[in-house]
Amino acid sequence: MIFEYNKEANIEIWNEIMGAKEMFGMKFPDTFSVTLKDEEQAKEMATKFATVWDRDEEMKEKISKIYGYKIPDEKLICYINTSKWSSVGPETRYISLSMLMPIEYAPPTIVHEFSHVAFYIKWGEFCRKIGYTENGVEELKEVLTVINNIEFKDLIDRGYKVHKELREIVKNMWLEGKNLKEIISDPKIIESVNSLDTIKKR
Ligand SMILES: [Zn+2]
Repeated sequence: MIFEYNKEANIEIWNEIMGAKEMFGMKFPDTFSVTLKDEEQAKEMATKFATVWDRDEEMKEKISKIYGYKIPDEKLICYINTSKWSSVGPETRYISLSMLMPIEYAPPTIVHEFSHVAFYIKWGEFCRKIGYTENGVEELKEVLTVINNIEFKDLIDRGYKVHKELREIVKNMWLEGKNLKEIISDPKIIESVNSLDTIKKR
């Protein structure tokens, strides 16, 4: 995986953050500025995050097991951004970690964000077809990362408070041996996820 600060990617991430007003119980700002000092810090963090990550192959294998999606090699780009938030870049071209994240949170967050990449590519369209709303798709991707806690035993994916109950249900379904398609297709999951309503856009 490549860890870098990239000016354009940083602005892309900020624009996405500002496009969202509220999400999963978090509120986002409507302006941003990037100082030279921020950029220096982001570059420094890129070097530091790279020192705690050496698990590309393991991650690819486990994400492929969970999502049925094989992450291609050229997808492994992690740009550091100057906001407080980590996310997936436009068209899943890269993932982005916050430069303010404590280093020990980088590994679970990398896996978390790549789980979203796999989810969007492999299951986004499918979810829309079987009745998830646009917001429902976004909520669902956060619920599903609870499975990482089972498959990556040493990493902790905390998730958001608003998804706590649903994550518990999904965790148990996975432990019972249900696959991702069966979990996603469960009418009770579809209904519960669609009724969450924690996303407000500008
Ligand atoms: Zn997420």
